[in-house]
Amino acid sequence: MIIFSGGTGTPKLLNGLREVYPEEKITVVVNTAEDIWVSGNLITPDIDTLLYMFSGRLDTSKWWGVKDDTYRTHEAMKELGYDEVMMLGDLDRATHIMRSDQIRSGLTLTEATIGLSKSFGVKANVFPMSDDPVSSMINTPEGKMHFQDFWVGKHGEPDVMSVCQEGIEKASISPAVVEALEREDNVLIGPSNPITSIGPIIELPGMRDILKEKKVIAVSPIIGTGPVSGPAGKLMTARGIEVSSFGVASYYSDFLDHLIIDELDPIDDERFSEIGCNVSRTDTLMKSLAISINLAETVLKLF
Ligand code: GDP
Repeated sequence: MIIFSGGTGTPKLLNGLREVYPEEKITVVVNTAEDIWVSGNLITPDIDTLLYMFSGRLDTSKWWGVKDDTYRTHEAMKELGYDEVMMLGDLDRATHIMRSDQIRSGLTLTEATIGLSKSFGVKANVFPMSDDPVSSMINTPEGKMHFQDFWVGKHGEPDVMSVCQEGIEKASISPAVVEALEREDNVLIGPSNPITSIGPIIELPGMRDILKEKKVIAVSPIIGTGPVSGPAGKLMTARGIEVSSFGVASYYSDFLDHLIIDELDPIDDERFSEIGCNVSRTDTLMKSLAISINLAETVLKLF
């Protein structure tokens, strides 16, 4: 199965899926439009979260970073007067150093990610969506800024006028992802931010057409009129998309077969028939591993 993922909602679902589905049959296509160079190293937050999750290193209290990590290098740099936009742990930084060194020596991001997966003993196939740089940029009254500057640096506070993915028109789908899509018919779009996590993957040139030929199931990251967490609501509004599971389905409507929405979502199921989308309901709020497993089983039954 192929799963499109960001760095929080979908990894929670994958944490359940790997309990009930062979990990080596999981191929994760990961958003890289939140990647950013910090202190000389390429941080790919969503890939890192997946590598740490699959290898049992993830700090699941925050859903980013390595558990029990220390921040001595980050603090030491601050003392030197060099404040990094993100809190980077010491162990986490080792991953970034290895990746960046490999990229500087000519490897693609896909090759470097496969190498890191092997080093961490990850059995799932974790691939970046593209080897080309794509950046989610947020237009605010304070100016245009990288997603990380908006979300981490400014805590998502500025008003959002528009969102764009810089570099997307010239970016190609990673060759490893193309190969996986040639082999597999089932694609799951996880409950991740439709604009800054899933958006960059599906807006890669040619991706929507490929998806039209697949069986595509998605899990809504929106329950009622708001996201479970993060800035998805604000960003969807800026794109002119209704903040609801119907809005999510509309954005995916040219290729989506089935949307899983939360059992408590007050939305009227009838609305989805307008856009030819089937819906089913279950508990999608993954507060525990048991709920993630239950959601994964619901997905498996639908494929
Ligand atoms: P990011 O890369 O950290 O922005 O993370 P993602 O895009 O993968 O995840 C953020 C999205 O996941 C938000 O839109 C949340 O609403 C959604 N999300 C987080 N946890 C859950 C959950 O337990 N259930 C559902 N349905 N959505 C979730």
